[in-house]
Amino acid sequence: MSVGVIATAHDFRRACQEARRDGALALVPTMGYLHAGHQSLIQAAAQCAPAVAVTIFVNPAQFGPNEDLSRYPRDLEGDLRKCEEAGATFVFAPRTAEELYRPGFQTCVEPGPLAQPMEGEKRPGHFRGVCTVVAKLFALSRADCAFFGEKDYQQLAVIRRMNDDLNLGVDVNGRPIVRESDGLALSSRNAYLSREERPHATALWKALKAARDAFTAGEVQPARLEELAREKLAEDGLSIDYAEIRDSAELQRVPKADRSSRLFLAAFLGKTRLIDNGALGGQG
Ligand code: AMP
Repeated sequence: MSVGVIATAHDFRRACQEARRDGALALVPTMGYLHAGHQSLIQAAAQCAPAVAVTIFVNPAQFGPNEDLSRYPRDLEGDLRKCEEAGATFVFAPRTAEELYRPGFQTCVEPGPLAQPMEGEKRPGHFRGVCTVVAKLFALSRADCAFFGEKDYQQLAVIRRMNDDLNLGVDVNGRPIVRESDGLALSSRNAYLSREERPHATALWKALKAARDAFTAGEVQPARLEELAREKLAEDGLSIDYAEIRDSAELQRVPKADRSSRLFLAAFLGKTRLIDNGALGGQG
């Protein structure tokens, strides 16, 4: 049986209503060009609910004017295959942005301090766009639970906060980062990397590992750990956007790192912007 594809918000709402009549509904929002990281979310969602709705929507509201909206990779056919393989029940893939942003659209969700540093600072308006579209998807689907990756850890924190603050009532779940065998976090944007660039993309993993090793050896000064990470990124020729240790709940700077403190990284390899993060006491 092939996975059903829905193109309109109206039909998506109807399909979700029907699915919820028979039991719980899980939601997995994505921008498509799916990989094993997305599939791990769909698999986890299928464990939580008998019906899993995947959404594929490259949301213009979360891209800045100089970002990669128009060249973001797309492959709907391949995505549908991967959704089906991972256990999705149906897929909402609007054909145009207007399907979700009707003429006259003017209401957005404005996140608070969690959305200010790092991605929020480097990509002004990004989390406003993310929150707005996720709130819309929560409202259309009225899903019982939703799954997001720790790859976008700050996004997960911002969405959890929004869900609580606005009483959206969705059980928001985070899942670990899925990586290539050499440590590179899977990302749709990895498709931008040239054959020459690809080996250098492991620099983020090397940076995370260097910080973890130093932490395990007793280093707790955030500035020193960040410096080690920066050195690794620079060794591979990446241009650093940020490398910051923050606490894992409120994403604040910490005077002294502990096991749960996270290193957050963003760096450009050529034109491709890569992000990664991990707890200093973690493995993945
Ligand atoms: P995106 O399509 O990039 O918007 O991502 C959709 C969802 O998949 C988000 O919740 C991401 O955090 C998650 N995701 C992306 N890459 C990975 C990965 N390598 N491992 C786990 N989850 C991921």
